[in-house]
Amino acid sequence: MRIGAPFAVSAWLLPVVAVAGSPAMMHYSVGAKLDPAHGALSASVTITVPAAQVTSPMVFVLSDSATISSIDATPRAEVAVSSEEGLYGHYQKITIRAAAPGHAGLRIRLRYAGPLGPSGDPPMDRISPDDMELNLDSLWIPICAGFGTKFTWDAEIRGVGSDLEVVAPGRVARSRGRLLLSCNAGSPDIAFVAMRGLRRAEGSGFEFYARDLASQEARDFLRQGAAAVKFLEAWFGEMPVRPMRVVMVQRERAGGYSRPGYIVVVDNGPSPERSVGKFIAHEFAHEWWSTGASDSEDRWLSETLAEYVALRYVESAFGTETRDTFLASMRDSARDAGPVLGRGRRSDTELYQKGPLLLMALEERIGRERLDRLLAGLAPKPPQNTAEFLQALSQVAGDERAQEFERSLRR
Ligand SMILES: [Zn+2]
Repeated sequence: MRIGAPFAVSAWLLPVVAVAGSPAMMHYSVGAKLDPAHGALSASVTITVPAAQVTSPMVFVLSDSATISSIDATPRAEVAVSSEEGLYGHYQKITIRAAAPGHAGLRIRLRYAGPLGPSGDPPMDRISPDDMELNLDSLWIPICAGFGTKFTWDAEIRGVGSDLEVVAPGRVARSRGRLLLSCNAGSPDIAFVAMRGLRRAEGSGFEFYARDLASQEARDFLRQGAAAVKFLEAWFGEMPVRPMRVVMVQRERAGGYSRPGYIVVVDNGPSPERSVGKFIAHEFAHEWWSTGASDSEDRWLSETLAEYVALRYVESAFGTETRDTFLASMRDSARDAGPVLGRGRRSDTELYQKGPLLLMALEERIGRERLDRLLAGLAPKPPQNTAEFLQALSQVAGDERAQEFERSLRR
């Protein structure tokens, strides 16, 4: 069910809003009841926005299958809900206009309930009594539009069978039949996997979870993951978030994703070890490189950089010939690609194929040593937008090279 006409909810005025978690980040307090057998959810979510992050409007998106029963904002704010279609498929858009943005924090409390089913075709999420994977695609909690805003959380979730193993970033605990999740690292969504029969192995530098740790796929991920972490830490410094957890799931939809301290990989059956290596190196690279909202042109700062870094890992682990095989197929795919910059949101071809080739060309132009130094210098505080990247590039390689690289991104 969706709400047809926008409506407004106002609340009383309070002087100051206490901020939980990091003072610089939004914090979510989630109370949720899942009914995996029937694919349903009811939730109460309180979002605390620190003063510095209050914008007017603030826009959140939530699954359009949820029926919202109340939205309260403190201090008083105007709230509108509309049904939309776009980057996230069908969803509800919740627009909150604070009276005095930037001066006081904002607290938003939402209550909603409704069906919670897998979304996408084939879906990236699952919900059943013995196998659950919730993430951004589920839109099971309201997420900041653009998907680039990180927040901390504590969540108390009922309905996840006590015989399921749960993997999530941060702290995972159980108490009186409830699943307790909390995370201070910050992430653009609350993602977790709950599966019957998951087993845990200590990877070198990460925890690894899979149903069958002895399978060829699991052993490849463990081996390549350990080598990739070693390679990346030598370049960018220590992994920013610990503990780091990698969980292997089975589903029809290929492709995994990474969040701070958490990576989901898919067991798609046997695949060449070099592909496993490139894949896991890309996902681990996101632990450093994950800026740029997904609906903006700055997305390349996340996907293009991660893919370039993954190619460098492939070169180091499997040799230049193997790397060149990947490059050749990327050149093929990138032939008809549009510009990386200047046209808003980009497709996979520009982000994963053309972009990394442009970074390879930049490497040739300015020398590997300078490009490596540039990335090593940026890694602790990755650029939030393209201008920041270009500025750092011009400091390392000069204005002319930076302008030349920018032109290549816009071509
Ligand atoms: Zn990626």
